[in-house]
Amino acid sequence: MSKVAIVTGGTRGIGAATAVALKEAGYKVAANYAGNDEAARNFHKQTGIATYKWSVADYDACAAGIAQVETDLGPISVLVNNAGITRDAMFHKMTRAQWDEVIGTNLSGVFNMTHPLWARMRARKFGRIITISSVNGQKGQMGQANYSAAKAGDIGFTKALALEGARAGITVNVICPGYIATDMVMTVPEKAREAIIAQIPVGRLGEAEEIARCVVFLASENSGFITGATLSANGGQYLV
Ligand code: NDP
Repeated sequence: MSKVAIVTGGTRGIGAATAVALKEAGYKVAANYAGNDEAARNFHKQTGIATYKWSVADYDACAAGIAQVETDLGPISVLVNNAGITRDAMFHKMTRAQWDEVIGTNLSGVFNMTHPLWARMRARKFGRIITISSVNGQKGQMGQANYSAAKAGDIGFTKALALEGARAGITVNVICPGYIATDMVMTVPEKAREAIIAQIPVGRLGEAEEIARCVVFLASENSGFITGATLSANGGQYLV
C-alpha cells in the first residue's frame, strides 16, 4: 500500500497539525488550501510539505488537483476532508449566500474530494477517508444553522459511504472535534471564548495536535475494523 495522504485545508490549524503528524508517521503528504498564499508559503518553508491551491467547493478543481497530486506523489491512500469555514448568523439574519458558502465548502466540498478518489481507491482495494465534522454538527449551535447542517451532513455521508466501502477495503470515519485553539476559534471575541471554555468539562480548548493524533490512528492500516465511526474529541463537551 502506498503511503500518500492529502489533507484539505492542510496549511493552517487542525489541517496543518494533521499534515505534520502524517508526515511524521511516514506518509508523503499534500496539503491543499484555498487562498491564503502567505500561510501556505510559511507552512511549506517550516515543514517541507507540498502545498496545492484549489477550492474544495469546485468539483472540477478537486478532480484535477487529485490527479496532479497522484502524478507528483503517487496513489493517494488517505484523504482527510478537513477544509471548513464558518459564516455565523442567527437564522433570521442569515443570508442565502452564507448558507451556500458553508454548505458548498463544508458538505459539498467533502463530496467533491471524495467522489473523484473513490473509484481510484476501489480499484486499489484500499482507502482511508477521514472527515472533520464538529461537536456542533452533533448537538447544534445557535447562530450556526448552516454550519451545524453541513457538519451533521458529514456524519450521515460517512455512515452511508462506510457501508459502500466496507467490502472494497475502504474505511470511512468522521471526527467531531470540540473547540480547538485555531484561527477559527481565536477570532471569536475573548468574552465569548471564555463562555465557551466554561462549558467544556476539561476546562480548556483542545490543541490541533490532539485532533491530528486521532487522524493518524484512523489512517493506519491497522484500523481496518473501524468504519462508519464517529470519534468525538471534545473534552467532554457533548456530555453537558
Ligand atoms: P482554520 O480556519 O484554522 O483553517 C482552515 C483551513 O481550511 C485553511 O487551510 C483554509 O485555507 C482551508 N480552507 C477553507 N476553505 C477552503 C476551501 N474552499 N478549499 C480548500 N481549503 C479551504 O480552521 P480549523 O483548523 O479551525 O478547522 C479545520 C476543520 O475543523 C474545519 O472543517 C472546521 O469546521 C473543523 N472544526 C474546527 C473546530 C475548532 O474549534 N477550530 C471545532 C470543530 C471542527 P486558507 O488558509 O487558504 O484560507
